[in-house]
Amino acid sequence: MIMKTLEKQKINSWTCPQCGRMFKRMGQSHSCKTFPLEQHFIGKEKFRKLFDKLGKAITTRIGPFKIDSIECCIHLVHKSTFVAVKVMKNNLRIDFSLDYKPSNPRIGKTVKMSENRYLHYVDITKEDDINTDLLQWLKDAYFLK
Ligand SMILES: [Zn+2]
Repeated sequence: MIMKTLEKQKINSWTCPQCGRMFKRMGQSHSCKTFPLEQHFIGKEKFRKLFDKLGKAITTRIGPFKIDSIECCIHLVHKSTFVAVKVMKNNLRIDFSLDYKPSNPRIGKTVKMSENRYLHYVDITKEDDINTDLLQWLKDAYFLK
């Protein structure tokens, strides 16, 4: 039984030997180029604290994760990327995949990726935005198979 679980985990995640990023599929194509995390916050320093708050909330309420900073955005990775954070001028914009569509006005945009896979966009402008609703979605994204 334990073996089976381990095997499953192995299939569910692959670490690129070059850049150390984790992916769902073995040999998944990507750019190995990483990008310094702090560079995302240049001129947008006020969102650095908000980003830390989000990270802390995820660690305490959901589980551990790793940060992959790439040029386009900041990926939070568990077995694979479960949320991508983009530092905008006036907010943090996050996107995450779920197998359902929450009906909530906070979801800014939803893109259907495939059968039962929806990518959702949510803006975080203040600490209060990191609330139970948001953490529930991120938890579902974190554990999404
Ligand atoms: Zn790589």
